[in-house]
Amino acid sequence: MILLANCTVSDARVLEGLAPRKDAGILIAGDRITAVGPYAEVVREAGPVTEIDLGGAHVTPGLANMHTHFSLSLPGSGGNTVKDLGPHDLALYMADGARRTLECGVTTVRCVAEKDHADFALRRAINAGRTPGPRIHTAGQALVCTGGHGHESGDTLECDGPVGFRNGVRSQIKAGADLIKVMISGGLAGEHEGIATPQLFPDELAAVIETAHAWGRKVTAHAGPADIIATAVELGLDCVEHGYQLTPEVAARMAERGTALVPTLLVTRCKEFFDELGVPEWMQCRSLGAGPRHLESFEIALAAGVEVLLGSDMPPFWGFEGTNATVRELEYMAERIGPARALHAGTRGPIRWLGADANLGTIDDDPLGDTSAFRGIRWVMKGGQVVRDGDTR
Ligand SMILES: [Zn+2]
Repeated sequence: MILLANCTVSDARVLEGLAPRKDAGILIAGDRITAVGPYAEVVREAGPVTEIDLGGAHVTPGLANMHTHFSLSLPGSGGNTVKDLGPHDLALYMADGARRTLECGVTTVRCVAEKDHADFALRRAINAGRTPGPRIHTAGQALVCTGGHGHESGDTLECDGPVGFRNGVRSQIKAGADLIKVMISGGLAGEHEGIATPQLFPDELAAVIETAHAWGRKVTAHAGPADIIATAVELGLDCVEHGYQLTPEVAARMAERGTALVPTLLVTRCKEFFDELGVPEWMQCRSLGAGPRHLESFEIALAAGVEVLLGSDMPPFWGFEGTNATVRELEYMAERIGPARALHAGTRGPIRWLGADANLGTIDDDPLGDTSAFRGIRWVMKGGQVVRDGDTR
């Protein structure tokens, strides 16, 4: 058993209504947290333990990033390098990203389009302890219509007609998908399409959602324009990615029906990242130009009471504006919703959406004074194992 000592924690279940408790203790047996509370009490009941002194640091649950691609390849030279990797190199490239992600304190990710089913091999390797990485919930390949958003590489599967899309859903589930991702409108990264280009007919989308739900899988959709999202929400969509152009009416329906939003605010404000990858001018203009409306859309969703969840779209570990993409996205969210709600959007909210273990993401519900505290993460534990202690490699 491990006892984390000398840490600050305010577990809502244990210390209801109290300020963050200093001198807390967290007891871990195997991969489980079995007790959280005042150190003196926890240690009294613990028996023999290995104690880890955290030097007064604040302990929070691991972050959960709900929109990630370990095999991301945007248009441009950086993306082409990834696209040209053979299967073995791709798997190792993704494993490196998974390790870096975990070291950032991101203990859960939701992958929403990965190349050639390498994500399933990665998940197996992580679960077997062969390579370090976060808990992976993955959609496998995203489903698109022929020529649809992201059709250019192996992280999507082209389908057409309701029969084709049913088949697409089943093929991802057969490979091991935990959820289904579908592209229902154009996007920033497709030169031949606009953000507002509709891509699926309602019968195709209905086929996706019905089939996925019948197999107990949720469906999330890459979607921009309000009218396309409106149709999808009525058909039972579980989550919207980006949502660049929401209106109050559609946001209200999302809130009523419990459709979540992963706004990925970074994708329309990450010029530094685009420059690093050699992303062409047309895509940069489109992305950065969509920024103000994207932010307005996020605010509309908040006003309507839509559940918003953390997702970076950029690789979660990527160095960006003095921190990593996950923390930067969390900071952008916190600017609008405050640090306590942002922490929820990056921990408990995702775990609930994913239907993951009820014990994940619940160490601490402390309304941190400042989300930027996450820039200083130096120690990470996942499943009872210390996976980072000090600076990263
Ligand atoms: Zn994405």
